[in-house]
Amino acid sequence: MAITKTSFMRGMQCPKMIWLDRHRPSLKVIPPEVQERLDAGNEFGDKAMAMFGPYEEMTIYLPGTTIPDKKAMVAKTREHLDKGTAVICEAAFMSYNNYCAIDILRKTDNGYDIYEVKNTPEVHEQYIEDAAFQYYITDHCHLKVGKIFIVIRGEDENEPFVPVDVTEEVKKKYNWIDNNIWRLNRIQKQSEEVEIEPGEQCNRPYECWYYGYCHHTETEEKNDQPEQLTLI
Ligand code: SF4
Repeated sequence: MAITKTSFMRGMQCPKMIWLDRHRPSLKVIPPEVQERLDAGNEFGDKAMAMFGPYEEMTIYLPGTTIPDKKAMVAKTREHLDKGTAVICEAAFMSYNNYCAIDILRKTDNGYDIYEVKNTPEVHEQYIEDAAFQYYITDHCHLKVGKIFIVIRGEDENEPFVPVDVTEEVKKKYNWIDNNIWRLNRIQKQSEEVEIEPGEQCNRPYECWYYGYCHHTETEEKNDQPEQLTLI
């Protein structure tokens, strides 16, 4: 596998992260509170799948695992696109082995709209970048995309899912994705470890799971940090 949405976002935060993900993943330490946020985000995403009513989910796991079978998911997505399924969740696309799964695709008169679900009350810049990666891959797969939305958390249970139209901002980032996706591909595959001094990138926009390795301490407290976002 080349670059996924998650590895693109991680690589743009710090290229060393995706090198470690590929070559030394056992060094990763995911703090329990981060895992809780990841789980909450997944739960929110699962509920959002039904926000437009009946849907078809594309998730397929490799036998006996909870690892997504990306090729099977891509094939299943293609089948549903061909038959015009109205709402497709976890719709998978692959271009030159670069991969993304889109939370929700909703059919329109002219193609499909993209909905990326985030369990937060507001849209952050990195969510635009995240959606831009998905748009880039779907465009390379010749999907006709209309609008692109980030779905954020509503204020109460009467309005739990709030789509925010980010189409214009996302499309402006197309060339930025193109300029970086192949650079990150090369970095990920190189044999020598990426040399980068720890710095602000270790906490922004997401806290890095290799913090202990790069700072030579697994236990050091990270004081005075603002509330962290979680990449999902
Ligand atoms: S701890 Fe900092 S330097 Fe090390 S991989 Fe993470 S972001 Fe990069």
